[in-house]
Amino acid sequence: MTILLNSVESRDAAFVLHPYTNASQHLKDGPLVITRGEGIHIVDSEGNKYIEGLGGLFCASLGFSEQRLVDAATRQMKELPFYHSFGGKTHETAVELAERLIQLSPVPMSKVFFANSGSEANDTAMKLVWYYHNAIGMPEKKKIISRMRAYHGVTIASASLTGLPNNHRDFDLPIDRVLHTDCPEFYRYGRPGETEEEFATRCANSLEQMILAEGPETIGAFFAEPLMASGGCIVPPPTYYEKIQAILKKYDVLLIADEVICGFGRLGTMFGSESFGLQPDMIVMAKQLSAAYQPISALMINEKIHSAVVAESEKIGTFGHGFTYSGHPVATAVALETLKIYEERDIVGHVRTIAPVFQRRLNELGDHPLVGNARGRGLIGTLELVRNKETKEQFKPTDGIAIHAGKQAQVHGVITRALGDNYSLCPPLIITEAEIHELFDRSTRALNDTYTWARATGLY
Ligand code: PLP
Repeated sequence: MTILLNSVESRDAAFVLHPYTNASQHLKDGPLVITRGEGIHIVDSEGNKYIEGLGGLFCASLGFSEQRLVDAATRQMKELPFYHSFGGKTHETAVELAERLIQLSPVPMSKVFFANSGSEANDTAMKLVWYYHNAIGMPEKKKIISRMRAYHGVTIASASLTGLPNNHRDFDLPIDRVLHTDCPEFYRYGRPGETEEEFATRCANSLEQMILAEGPETIGAFFAEPLMASGGCIVPPPTYYEKIQAILKKYDVLLIADEVICGFGRLGTMFGSESFGLQPDMIVMAKQLSAAYQPISALMINEKIHSAVVAESEKIGTFGHGFTYSGHPVATAVALETLKIYEERDIVGHVRTIAPVFQRRLNELGDHPLVGNARGRGLIGTLELVRNKETKEQFKPTDGIAIHAGKQAQVHGVITRALGDNYSLCPPLIITEAEIHELFDRSTRALNDTYTWARATGLY
């Protein structure tokens, strides 16, 4: 591309280090400059309009032009643009939001702690696992089990929970005390002749073996996204969570549900935990909590954890954890308004109504020559691109198949991101049926072009 001197593009290359970007390639390609949003669309600096096929980063649930959220932020900024909640200070929107989240929770919860990002909320959950076990006199019960291909964030603790090599390599992660058990993706890890339920049993047995090998007295918690999104939209097989939770219970291991993507309607239920029957001790939320109009995350804890925090305060004093912007007034006001909109417009009901159309179109693409597996739930889904449909042979990472498919999608007016070899879709929850068809028509054209390219270059 031609980059003009002093353009946004050239200044971007000069000054910005981009998250999740190939830094070397970026200097050659330059950025895509986004200038505005409109419903489920975004528009770039050249006036091209795209469907945001991934809802930004799985978060822009109400699209990009929701005036009510702008008004809520403006009102709050005029009244009280900032105050903190250290030392027992508070303000009304934070209180109301906490109360509302406790009401919405799929399991009884006691308190809400606010942070700014999913990573920070997961860090907080991990620290609370340790704090809790110290408080109850089990200081050795500190190891945490996560899963391979899980995604829980990028701070030192949350990146350690994440089970993707790219988040560990050369960052000297994961830290000690974090272990990774099997990824419950049947398509890739199920054995020939094995049923999904047998695979679920094998995953649960493997978790139990890990707990026994480490010593149950050393295992404090298990972190799980109900549906694993960034690792490739992995929908655990039937009976998986039933079996996993029985083992957690048997060895007295806390369960933390990371609802950063599944929370607030994505799967056709308010929380992903409802969709899979999870009974967590803590729930992590972010992204759709504020429809992405403000950075905010929250951690809900049950009374068992909360009473341990209270006991620790009686013993050692102040709970030594909190962020300057925990419960920021503008962020909490926007999140509160977001929850009101979800309720008034019955967003969860809308997802339930249109998800069958989304999933049908997704599954139809399972027949495409490049697609090994189509899977999803609610309004999230992925097409796993493979070199050979019969043998499930994968492309080499250097082939960049999904990156190419993403570029083709952009040509056809869809924004998505390559997640491994997955062409992933997770549109704003407000998408209409007609827009779902448009999204899949364009995606089909992108995959066709990718297939032609793969054949022409000898990759396929
Ligand atoms: N947890 C899950 C399930 C996520 O998908 C993400 C981000 O995609 C995070 C945590 C981290 O959130 P953040 O990027 O806000 O730190």
